[in-house]
Amino acid sequence: MKDFILIAGPCSVESEQQLDIICQEVKKAGVDAIRGGAFKPRTSPYDFQGLGEEGLKLLSEAKAKYNLPIVSEIVDKSQIEMFQDVDILQVGAKNMQNFELLKALGKTDKWILLKRGFGNTVDELLNSAEYIRQGGNEKIILCERGIRSFETSTRFTLDLSAIPVIKSRTNMKVIVDPSHAAGKSQYVRSLALAAVAAGADGLIVEVHNKPKEALCDGKQALSCHEFSKLAHDVFAMRDLMKEF
Ligand code: PEP
Ligand code: MN
Repeated sequence: MKDFILIAGPCSVESEQQLDIICQEVKKAGVDAIRGGAFKPRTSPYDFQGLGEEGLKLLSEAKAKYNLPIVSEIVDKSQIEMFQDVDILQVGAKNMQNFELLKALGKTDKWILLKRGFGNTVDELLNSAEYIRQGGNEKIILCERGIRSFETSTRFTLDLSAIPVIKSRTNMKVIVDPSHAAGKSQYVRSLALAAVAAGADGLIVEVHNKPKEALCDGKQALSCHEFSKLAHDVFAMRDLMKEF
């Protein structure tokens, strides 16, 4: 695993063409892995729930074509077999305390991207990571993605202090998801750069070829062009941080 990891891709895999265009663009921008949801735990049951197994198949094809690892969210331990070709299994914020899932992931040899629940403390996040480690799996990446506060101008409130706090307490990598924290694409850049300046070991960013038409989280998605500019600046900030 590299010192700094940049992950980008759509919130949800929607079609072969959508995924292909995005992969091509984010690869050009220099990402280390592609993200894409196939099983989406949505707040409303009437919202797009993801393509399911078909989405995983499209991700596998993209992985082979672009020679990049893939990241996708697993929502239940019964799906582990189905996620065989996925390199980094994401545990979403809503599942951070799904202890049976965490225990089952602890017995795999996959990298796990554990996102902080929006109502959970750093302590609780570290305890959830412990559930995975207890099973023998130490390949864990933690992710700060914003917590719920009284502020409503952003979707969540990015807790930048979680980065130095977690780093002072573990050796695990901590990355930041500026997209879900911001909820609006116009704020993603500031949060992303601030996260790198605060010592984040990487970022996971939502990107869409046509944000306005996205089936999920379009408001917070960067266009491919916006992402490529951001990636350039993120790498510059990462290099600057090495001097400190
Ligand atoms: C996502 O990554 O698309 C997602 C649903 O994130 P979170 O679990 O942080 O809400
Ligand atoms: Mn999303």
